[in-house]
Amino acid sequence: MNNHIAIKNFVRMCEDGWNQGWHERNGGNLSYRMTKTEVLDCIDKFDMSSDYKPLGISAPNMADEHFIVTGSGKYMRNVPLCPEENICIVRIDETGSMYKVVWGLTKGGKPTSELSSHILNHSVKAELTDGRYRVMYHAHPENVVSLSYVLPLNDKDFSRALWQSETECAMVFPEGVGVVGWYIPGGTELAEASSEKMKSYDAVVWAHHGLFCSGVDFDSTFGLMHTVEKAASIFVKVKCMGGAKQTITDEQLVRIAESIGEVLNPDFVDLGKEA
Ligand SMILES: [Zn+2]
Repeated sequence: MNNHIAIKNFVRMCEDGWNQGWHERNGGNLSYRMTKTEVLDCIDKFDMSSDYKPLGISAPNMADEHFIVTGSGKYMRNVPLCPEENICIVRIDETGSMYKVVWGLTKGGKPTSELSSHILNHSVKAELTDGRYRVMYHAHPENVVSLSYVLPLNDKDFSRALWQSETECAMVFPEGVGVVGWYIPGGTELAEASSEKMKSYDAVVWAHHGLFCSGVDFDSTFGLMHTVEKAASIFVKVKCMGGAKQTITDEQLVRIAESIGEVLNPDFVDLGKEA
């Protein structure tokens, strides 16, 4: 099972996140919606005997899907050492409101406490992208969290701060980033607030907590997390050096996105105010 291509890619991303310092203790979680072929490749290893449990949310378009997810309370740093003890595959029932573990967590445990958030976000993104998006990733990158103590907690201020901190941000996330306020981790309120933002963005900042990213595959999702955190770290450094003396103008931000055929979110630039 550990040689299954989806499991191998999943484990690599857990290790990469740990190496970045984004997963202290049991922080962070990852989920991947398997393709039909990937499920068929390993369905003979599944144990279907456990009972379905309520997800706490309803996602009818995720009915009968299979997800690889990290375990609740498990440490990212341990995933590469023993995947079957620290991650699992969950199957969603035919209503999209119940789940059961069909593989993994061999020494006991449950899927991530953010499972409802992940499944709801998968549901939103699958609907919007005709099923192309398959990865949801939550981490605790320290510079992004730091920003949530100094910037106003709204989409525009965060998006502009990040775009202006590193030129390629306007290419990587031209739609900007969403921001949700503080919520209890693992709760339905956070799941719902986050999935509402996922309708407009691929990255959502959880105030004083971390970042949630989505994407079509492991590379793009990890890359998005990495890019947002790198920009946040530059923002923090510039603040520490006394603040920006010059920056990328709104007109330049628009041109960056245009250079790759993208459109920068027009709600977040103020072209009329510039000379
Ligand atoms: Zn967290």
